Amino acid sequence: MATPLIGMTVDYSPVTDERPFSRGTDLYFQNTAYIRYLEKAQCVQVLLPTLENLQKIPFLISKLDGLLLTGGDDVYSESYGEKVMEGSWRIDVQRTHYEIALIKEAILQEKPILGICRGCQMLNVALGGTLYQDIPNQIPQHIQHQSTQKPKWQTHPIKIEPGSLLHKIIGETEITVNSSHHQAIKDVAQGLRVTARAADNVVEAVELDTARFILGVQWHPEEMQNERTSELLLGAFVSACTSISPAEVC
Ligand code: MN
Repeated sequence: MATPLIGMTVDYSPVTDERPFSRGTDLYFQNTAYIRYLEKAQCVQVLLPTLENLQKIPFLISKLDGLLLTGGDDVYSESYGEKVMEGSWRIDVQRTHYEIALIKEAILQEKPILGICRGCQMLNVALGGTLYQDIPNQIPQHIQHQSTQKPKWQTHPIKIEPGSLLHKIIGETEITVNSSHHQAIKDVAQGLRVTARAADNVVEAVELDTARFILGVQWHPEEMQNERTSELLLGAFVSACTSISPAEVC
């Protein structure tokens, strides 16, 4: 049984003297929840620090069996042609450019992609779509998508489109998910299909019909990794990265 190698993007922490370690320097890091989540599956994982030089991306992608796009700072809005709105959260410009290049190359090389939260939005941006930069400011009558009292997570129901890949994976058309985002998909990229929405119509999942497995979810399965829906999602992703059947993955 082949063991798939999954590459995972990383988040960024700016220079600070507040930490007991690595004072006065900036860091690339990743939350342990993502690491533990993938570790549940029959795969090995590597972190992909944000590179400034994009030349080696085809080589990097060729070595991976799948790509996990993680959550994090806001997507740089100039990458989809919009000025950064006032009151934006922290923006990771380099990571935005890097992930666009990763996504395009992974699609070219037909590698499976799972996008989580910001990763779901990045899929849309890389393929030519746009984002709401701030749900509270731009979507009237929105429901609460932000987890303002973390570690207590906000949750809300979503409706899943029958017949979609997500529906085939999860087997239900309505589930409850956690929610910790203030941005969301606005104009959907050509070729991308919206396969789940919240009650306020905010996009909660997208997939690329022409690909074997290119799926973005706006919620955080890694933070509810013992739930059946999260295990099914992980199983389907890792299965798509190799010949392992979903039932054998986790
Ligand atoms: Mn949400």
